[in-house]
Amino acid sequence: MNDPGTLGELLAARGVSRRAFLKYATCMSSLMALPPSAAAAMAEGLAKARRQAVIWLSFQECTGCTESFTRSFGPTLEDLILDFISLDYHHTLQSVSGEAAEAARRQSMQDNKGKYLVVVDGSVPMADGGVYSMIAGNTNIAMLAETVEHAAAVIAVGSCAAFGGLPEADPNPTGAVPISQLVKNKPVINIPGCPPLPQAMAGTIAHFLSFGKLPELDHLNRPRAFFGESIHDRCYRRPFYERGLFAKSFDDEGARQGWCLYELGCKGPVTYNACATAKWNGGVSFPIQSGHGCIGCSEPRFWDRGGLYKPLSAGTADMGRVIAIAAVAGVAAGAGGALLARSRQKAAQEREG
Ligand code: SF4
Repeated sequence: MNDPGTLGELLAARGVSRRAFLKYATCMSSLMALPPSAAAAMAEGLAKARRQAVIWLSFQECTGCTESFTRSFGPTLEDLILDFISLDYHHTLQSVSGEAAEAARRQSMQDNKGKYLVVVDGSVPMADGGVYSMIAGNTNIAMLAETVEHAAAVIAVGSCAAFGGLPEADPNPTGAVPISQLVKNKPVINIPGCPPLPQAMAGTIAHFLSFGKLPELDHLNRPRAFFGESIHDRCYRRPFYERGLFAKSFDDEGARQGWCLYELGCKGPVTYNACATAKWNGGVSFPIQSGHGCIGCSEPRFWDRGGLYKPLSAGTADMGRVIAIAAVAGVAAGAGGALLARSRQKAAQEREG
């Protein structure tokens, strides 16, 4: 296979100017909350980076994570960087199949020993010996163990790979588990979401290519740059929340005025992700902006949390656990209880007002 040169050379050949490259590095380092000096270092690191081998394994998943990346609005520099990686194995995108595909995966592992990244979307079924999801005659359990053996790191993309997701939801008939439960001898980075933000994936890879190491992670192994703040922290409807102005139905006057969706089940206060700032479809919008509350898809066990349309203040047992998790993270630091109390107080004021 021909060496395509460095990323800087590749982008220059495609007509991407140094100025555009620097702008991208500045935006990405700013989105990742890196110090100002990091932008130039990131640009320099990216320009010198060479092709990164990536093996992508798809287990119990819906292909939504891949759809998210391939449908990203573009072309953008993220697309080019993702083009630049050597995606040596990917069920949905590869042209080869059968034994040739498996041979390509093993060849990449051999050629890039200790240096390749493994990206996984989907959970792994453990029940009945793992027979509920098999590829090329191998259980997902066996394929994961074999593929990560000489990897530099593993990126669990999407909530199924990161936390178990929908397959793991009660009653979890296949015994689904997240990747971190099976991979103990390599760094595992979680980029949850259903689907995850393409920028979080591109940013994590860009950081790895630029600095030769993974970005800072939170207590759930998510890149802190993208999961360090709650949706609620950055939501443009927050002023309505603070004033106690809540939509009561999706078609009432409050909803038309853009009031807070907390009472319609918004999970923004306990959900950590960058949707409110990075947004979707090329920065056009995100769920709350289009009138639907956040469903909390980047948090563990969001399917089992007691209803997408029940407000947090309904206080189901499961929600109590979610708030406790946020408190342990130090992000809510006692805010869970205060949040409920304040919301109830605001709701009462609103009813009386
Ligand atoms: S509760 Fe939801 S809609 Fe309301 S301010 Fe918070 S994140 Fe925005």
